[in-house]
Amino acid sequence: VGEPAHALLADALDGGAVRTGSDVTGLAERAQQVHVEGPTSDIAADAVVVADGVRSRLRAALFPAHPGIECSGEFAARATAPGLPVGVTPAPGELLDHRTGDRVGRMPMADGRVYWYATWRGDRAVAPAEPAALLGWLRARRTDWHPCVAALLSTTPAGEVHVAETTRLVRPLPALAVGRIALLGDAAHVMTPDLGQGACQAFEDAAILAAALEHATTVEVPRALAGYDARRRPRTGALMRQARRTNRLLTLRGPLGRTRDVGMRLIPTALATRALAAQFRIDPGGARASARR
Ligand SMILES: Cc1cc2nc3c(=O)[nH]c(=O)nc-3n(C[C@H](O)[C@H](O)[C@H](O)COP(=O)(O)OP(=O)(O)OC[C@H]3O[C@@H](n4cnc5c(N)ncnc54)[C@H](O)[C@@H]3O)c2cc1C
Repeated sequence: VGEPAHALLADALDGGAVRTGSDVTGLAERAQQVHVEGPTSDIAADAVVVADGVRSRLRAALFPAHPGIECSGEFAARATAPGLPVGVTPAPGELLDHRTGDRVGRMPMADGRVYWYATWRGDRAVAPAEPAALLGWLRARRTDWHPCVAALLSTTPAGEVHVAETTRLVRPLPALAVGRIALLGDAAHVMTPDLGQGACQAFEDAAILAAALEHATTVEVPRALAGYDARRRPRTGALMRQARRTNRLLTLRGPLGRTRDVGMRLIPTALATRALAAQFRIDPGGARASARR
């Protein structure tokens, strides 16, 4: 699934621009350059973008006093199924189990396949590690759910399933840029996937960062990155806080879970749509304004 997208991006670059298998161990800023350190690295650049994901080693090095990530206590299995069998109607939205806090969501893909995720709370060890056994276990916990859940789980090839514990930063970073170094994506603002915004924010970061750096000379880079930080930190910080609240809300069980459902049904559609639109609204002037500076 990732390959065509990666190829599309890589094809736009000069040959050799992407080097895989290069472990970066540290960054050192001297004489208006950032030196990228590692056994296979020999790069010095005007600016470096740190995008080393959830367990970012470079984030920890840049912000040693920051507590880093915490686990949410929830695991997610994810996969793509070939599609729903004829006659099985898809369940809308995300399904939540008031007894266990388990969840299931699905999204149709352009090629007819269906992406799904299924979560559980507690320990990784309560679920079998072997993928076919894991699918059976997920199915057994959801026997009385909407029929599309069993259909998705039974038609998914076992080798397709990936499991991850969802994590988030304990608190937002104090800055998304330090001198000539900018952070982007999960390295900058990992949040639980409750809003479906983690990768979306990485793309927004990239757009704003590219605009901020477009006309910057070597000497202007730190100022351009400070502009990127000012533009991105309020939005990503707000989404991180919202993801935390949403995670708390969506994992309520028993009477609290039922009260949540009643409350959510009472929210007028117009209000819910406005809130969702605000979540999706990247500041379109941001990229242009940064480019002009
Ligand atoms: C269960 C789940 C569901 C999700 N659902 C959604 C969703 O619906 N919508 C959405 O937008 N997002 C979603 N996300 C979030 C999304 O997956 C992440 O936000 C996104 O993948 C982050 O991309 P990234 O490039 O920042 O990090 P990554 O994709 O983690 O990439 C980091 C890269 O850095 C490399 N690296 C790490 N350390 C080093 C090093 N020292 N030297 C060199 N390279 C290094 C790694 O090998 C990796 O290639 C979900 C996440 C989870 C766990």
